[in-house]
Amino acid sequence: MAGKLNWGIVGGGEGSQIGPAHRLGAQADGHFAFVAGALDADPEKGRAYAQSLGVAEDRAYGDWREMLAGEQAREDRIDLVTVATPNATHFEITKAFLEAGFHVLCEKPMTMTVEEGEEIVRVAEKSGRICAVNYCYSAYPMVRHMRAMVARGDLGKIRLVVASFSHGHHADARDQDNPRVRWRYDPAQAGVSGQMADCGIHALHLASFILGDEVARLSADFASCVPGRELEDDAMVNLRFEGGAVGRLWTSTIAIGRQHGLDIQIYGEEGGLRWAQEQPNQVYHQTLGGRTEIIEKGEAGISEDAARLSRVVIGSPEGFPLAVANIYVDLAQAIHGGGADGLYPKAVDGLRSMAAVHAAVGSAKDGGAWVDARPPMLR
Ligand code: NAD
Repeated sequence: MAGKLNWGIVGGGEGSQIGPAHRLGAQADGHFAFVAGALDADPEKGRAYAQSLGVAEDRAYGDWREMLAGEQAREDRIDLVTVATPNATHFEITKAFLEAGFHVLCEKPMTMTVEEGEEIVRVAEKSGRICAVNYCYSAYPMVRHMRAMVARGDLGKIRLVVASFSHGHHADARDQDNPRVRWRYDPAQAGVSGQMADCGIHALHLASFILGDEVARLSADFASCVPGRELEDDAMVNLRFEGGAVGRLWTSTIAIGRQHGLDIQIYGEEGGLRWAQEQPNQVYHQTLGGRTEIIEKGEAGISEDAARLSRVVIGSPEGFPLAVANIYVDLAQAIHGGGADGLYPKAVDGLRSMAAVHAAVGSAKDGGAWVDARPPMLR
């Protein structure tokens, strides 16, 4: 690939959850140099932290508007900006950077509303810039391998996908006053949905990604199991894909004992596949009437895309930061125009997720009625 690209990030300050994964991911393969940032809601903390990470003083910005203006004025401006701030700010920041001609990688959820999602898709198209969304689980090598297996027909026609993203980290009712937990169930801060918008959308994207198909309709049941929560901490969503497959999606924050909790099963007419994020190297494959085989990352016969995105030897898991790094590998290729495979998640995927979240909220309020899950612009 051609020379190193310049990269900056908004959000992801000291102590943030996702900041380290982006810094590791962007820099892991040497495609991006970390040269600019507005890292924190507190301008002074953000400037100091950026400099402690090696960013030059004049590019360690106090806020994103200052960063946008500063970078626009430079010849060696950033090639890509990552937006890793809290959800409600994604739309405004992403739109502004796209309109100013920067490529953007936005954290999920891309926007709070479907209308904003459609606006980002339009702005990205008009600007001709890349707008990617960090559905990073789709970039695990063995997830790419499953997608390739489904695409080449190894499972036959797909009948059923079962996905869950359920953990137990908000199960303690005594956390009601914990500010790190409370905001997630408060509509004023989190929007229309709690766990479905936070984690359910990853499972939803993963299912669509592996199937190479989109959700057409859904029916949802939401529950707030911990007393006092306005938004859901548990959801079961039934799906129908455009190609006819049935989907079952469970997402929860009260499943005590489950840790990360993202896993997926795909069943076709000729076989089935299983994968779990906590054991990312192995895919379990069973053919109709056959035995279960374990397909291991790094062994012969892995799809080209899975092999391209693997770095370490067989038997060594490539974990979460390197899945994020794979998004940056794809983005670097796309920016250089050097034959990107185009599989990184895009603004249209961010939009589809928001439409599905809003559809699920509406369905749950309406006793689980079946509703159209597609955004108006894609119907
Ligand atoms: P966090 O609260 O841990 O950190 C947010 C950071 O953004 C903090 O450093 C804060 O100071 C900074 N910030 C807030 N407002 C800002 C502003 N206006 N300008 C600059 N910096 C600002 O949050 P987090 O858990 O890291 O989540 C951030 C985003 O990443 C969320 O949208 C979340 O949904 C997403 N996320 C994605 C994944 C994933 O798997 N893709 C995982 C975790 C979080």
